[in-house]
Amino acid sequence: MGLDQDKICRCSKNEPALLHGALPESPLNCMRCKKTILLNDAIISNELKHAIFKWAKTYNSLFTLWSDTMEYREWAKQKLQDEIGSINLEGLQLAQQCNVMRKTYYWMFQDNSDKDYVQPQHCPFCGASMVSILKNDFKVCHDCRVAYPDKQTS
Ligand SMILES: [Zn+2]
Ligand SMILES: [Zn+2]
Repeated sequence: MGLDQDKICRCSKNEPALLHGALPESPLNCMRCKKTILLNDAIISNELKHAIFKWAKTYNSLFTLWSDTMEYREWAKQKLQDEIGSINLEGLQLAQQCNVMRKTYYWMFQDNSDKDYVQPQHCPFCGASMVSILKNDFKVCHDCRVAYPDKQTS
């Protein structure tokens, strides 16, 4: 894939990663520098790499229906927002399997362009308070490895 070298993460393996299904070419990204973690170089099995790309393709199809269509927008949003829906459960599982390489959080879809969107204060899985990480726009649950974006300000 033709990714620029300066878009590739060079951080230490101690920096957390984010699995982001709406980026099918580079679903795994560094939370510190926000650059791509190359799956081909990642110290994970080929099966897992393959599973991540396959899942991200499906995820991106749903995401595109939400972002680019009127007809399927609401339907796709429901699927993406359903924390225990199959696309998200699979993503959470894949993120957990990436933990052997780097601590990996799962980017949970929220329609943060919606003016009524409120960033969740509590984890939908365990109820713990969501906390900030690395001074970026996410709040995460460290136990469940789930990350929610902040409300869009612009
Ligand atoms: Zn990095
Ligand atoms: Zn939790």
